[in-house]
Order: sequence, then C-alpha cells, then structure tokens
Amino acid sequence: MEHCPRLVIIGPPGSGKGTHARALAARWSIPHVSTGALLRREIDAKTEVGRRVADTVRAGGLVADELIVELVERALAEAPAGWILDGAPRTTRQADLLASRIEDQTAIVISLEVAPDELRRRLSLRRDEEGRADDAADVVEERLALWAQTGPLLIDRYARSGLLVGVDAAGTIAETSARVLRAVDEAVRARGGDNPEGPRGLTHLGEG
Ligand code: AMP
Repeated sequence: MEHCPRLVIIGPPGSGKGTHARALAARWSIPHVSTGALLRREIDAKTEVGRRVADTVRAGGLVADELIVELVERALAEAPAGWILDGAPRTTRQADLLASRIEDQTAIVISLEVAPDELRRRLSLRRDEEGRADDAADVVEERLALWAQTGPLLIDRYARSGLLVGVDAAGTIAETSARVLRAVDEAVRARGGDNPEGPRGLTHLGEG
C-alpha cells in the first residue's frame, strides 16, 4: 500500500508546473491545487476576490501573499491525506506562512529547471494556443524577471531543508514527465513511503 505524498512544484513560468502537477495528481490520486487556476476561476466568475486580483494577474504581477495563503490553506484543508501544490509559494513571505504545511510536514519540493530562452519559446506558443493575457511578450518578460528575483531564494531555502528535488525540465513533456514521476517515486521511497510500517518522513502524517 502506498501513502499519499505532499508535493510542491516550483519553477519559472512556462516550465510545465501545471502539466506535471496534473500527471503527479493522477499518479498519486491526490488533488492538484494550482493558485493560478484558483485565481483565474475567481476572475472568470467575477467574484469579489476575482475583481480585486484581475489587474495584477493580467499584468503578471504578484497577488498579495495573505490572499494566496488563504486560498491555499482553504484548498489544502480539504485534502488531509496528500496534495500537490502548484504556483505557491512564490515569495519568501508565502514560504514562511506555509512553512507548517511544507517544512513541518516534510513535503517534497520539485524544482523544474528550464533556461529562459526555452521558456520564452513555450510561452509564445501557449499565447497562441490558449490566449492567456499574461502570456503577452512584455508580460512574460515581467514574469521571468520576477522569477529571477524570487525563485533562487525558494530553491535555496528548500535545498537547505533537504526537501528539494531538482528535475531537468528542458526536454519534451513526455521526457520530463517520466523524470518527474521517477524522481518523486524515489523521494517517497527514500522516506519510507512504500512501507506502511515506516515511521519516517511524510508517510503517516495527518492520517486517520
Ligand atoms: P500561474 O498560473 O502559476 O502562472 O499564475 C498566474 C498568475 O497568478 C501569476 O502571474 C500571478 O499574477 C498570480 N499568482 C499565482 N500564484 C501566485 C502566488 N503564489 N503569489 C502571487 N501571485 C500568484
């Protein structure tokens, strides 16, 4: 019997977080919590939150940390056994506010690694395919610059706490997906996740 992991996927825009988070959610039968998708849903439904964040999201800026953490906490509370978090934390403050979820619960943090020119190429394709306003060329530059400021701090933080699993995500979706799934399987195994008796790591936290 396998135990559900708690997973966080981080990486620059266009690195494939959503795609690989969906594959991991299917592999482990855990809910996929995407802050970007949650925000876009609020915007499309024109809720109060949606109206508050619409301009920021369209411009590729960062939504207020407290609001993000509230959305995340609400979603994770509904998934006590395991989850995959995609899109947060994006700032040190969010990482601090979510530390009880990520560091205390020894989540596995998957860091997708892709060079900026490949990200530009992918996001320009996505702009044509999906028509997301924040994939416009100037907004993409804004988002890449933001990641360059904040990403290394997160990577460094989770590397120090021993939670980070770096994955080369420059190849095709199929290649990267195989790498991501294998890396997570290995990380779960290394923590005793395949052993129902195993007391270590994330296996029994929050269960029953
Ligand atoms: P994503 O789908 O993850 O690329 O997110 C789309 C947009 O939603 C981002 O460009 C931000 O404007 C906003 N957003 C998503 N997650 C966060 C977060 N953790 N902190 C602040 N803003 C966020």
